Amino acid sequence: MPAAPASGVHHFFGKRAKYPRFKSKKKSRKSAEYTTSGFRFRDGSLTLAKMREPLDIVWHRPLPEGAKPSTVTVSQDAAGRWYVSLLCDDASVKPLPATGSAVGVDVGLDHLLTLSTGEKIANPRHEREDRARLALAQRRLAKKAKGDGANRAKARRKVAKVHARIADRRRDGLHKLTTRLVRENQTIVIEDLTVRNMVKNRKLARAISDAAWSEFRNMLEYKAAWYGRDVIAVDRFFPSSKLCSHCGTLQEKMPLHVRTWTCDCGTTHDRDVNAAKNLLAAGLAVSACGAGVRPQRSSPGGQSAVKQETSRREPRSPRL
Ligand SMILES: [Zn+2]
Repeated sequence: MPAAPASGVHHFFGKRAKYPRFKSKKKSRKSAEYTTSGFRFRDGSLTLAKMREPLDIVWHRPLPEGAKPSTVTVSQDAAGRWYVSLLCDDASVKPLPATGSAVGVDVGLDHLLTLSTGEKIANPRHEREDRARLALAQRRLAKKAKGDGANRAKARRKVAKVHARIADRRRDGLHKLTTRLVRENQTIVIEDLTVRNMVKNRKLARAISDAAWSEFRNMLEYKAAWYGRDVIAVDRFFPSSKLCSHCGTLQEKMPLHVRTWTCDCGTTHDRDVNAAKNLLAAGLAVSACGAGVRPQRSSPGGQSAVKQETSRREPRSPRL
């Protein structure tokens, strides 16, 4: 039995049934799994075995239409909050009607993301302040002596809470964005960034982790698979920043501090919008002829270079 969490969210849970018993207290995230006989899911409400009423769930995001969960996982994070996540089969999700539009997405320093349409998506508000708060909480935790159990546990919980808040805000924003991109576009072209490649530039590495690029990509890919859209990842060595998207001339150098530039052809470019346009063009060329820049396609209908899972776990779907 874990210690009672600091927040009050557990009360309703406690009223209806005992807490699930967790196998390990050491793991940062404790969880219990229920298979189909252990729960009932009807009209969007979830009732676990031995409970009379459905759980009072705050949905983190809706399930895709028609989705039927096959496994329910109840867990508690380090900040003491309860979560339910639902595992659903791909087959129960209906694709959206096809659309002709396509978009390129560039990840940047000034903005979280830039679209080939010229739209810029800012980093989440408050993240800077939250980071300062996180640093403070971490310093306080570091000062607590190892032997001082209660105070140290309290400091550790504080750190976990700030972490959780940063992640929650970021995730909310990414969910809204990826849902919109997938609804509006048939094809979404992204850059195949890897963290390894970014470590060379520490500032960029920080920005990449802040922006949670991998979380963005992951959401984009499973939502695209749900709704019959394509995500094309263009090789990270593609010179998207140095290429004029208007005339195709390759610039010799494009230092990071250059935000706008004018090509010899007379076109003035915003660095990030130009890169997003180039990614889009490269991705569409790949999808048309199937060669060139080593794409990784994520589409539900076969022809996939990446092995697709038959079912997908919803990352921390609804929250208790
Ligand atoms: Zn040009």
